[in-house]
Amino acid sequence: MAIKINIGSLNEGSQTISLLSDENELSLPAGIIKGPLNIKLELFKTSSQLDVKAELKGINLLDCDRCLEKFEKDFLTSFELVFVMKSQREEEINEDYIRTYNPNMKSVDITNDLKEAVILTIPMKKLPEENSAGNCSWCNRTKDFWKGILSEKDPQDEF
Ligand SMILES: [Zn+2]
Repeated sequence: MAIKINIGSLNEGSQTISLLSDENELSLPAGIIKGPLNIKLELFKTSSQLDVKAELKGINLLDCDRCLEKFEKDFLTSFELVFVMKSQREEEINEDYIRTYNPNMKSVDITNDLKEAVILTIPMKKLPEENSAGNCSWCNRTKDFWKGILSEKDPQDEF
């Protein structure tokens, strides 16, 4: 399965497409997001270019660094891509967000870009918010509980 934009038949001008996806469709590792992924694509097409703004909304499933339990965290992320028709741009393009497409191409595949955007939402520090009392907002455990299990230090600090 793949998420493709029908660049060949797309009308010029701007339009917004909303769709639902999931970890299977994006070939994400199992168990890193919960439930469906909301994707909003803002497209702007001219005769030789397509701008894509993608917004992804979902829920990360994370293992808490402190209590090691799974917790959920909402995420919202976005990225932009620009597809430029090959005949309009002959020189080498180094920018990662700029792609070229062939005038006779029917569609462009953005599955992998969406997948990477989701993977980038996984935080380095996997911790739920703390509530005003300093307890974990997810499991409600206190600082005293964590102290016995894990140090609060970054792993890098120990080397
Ligand atoms: Zn917790």
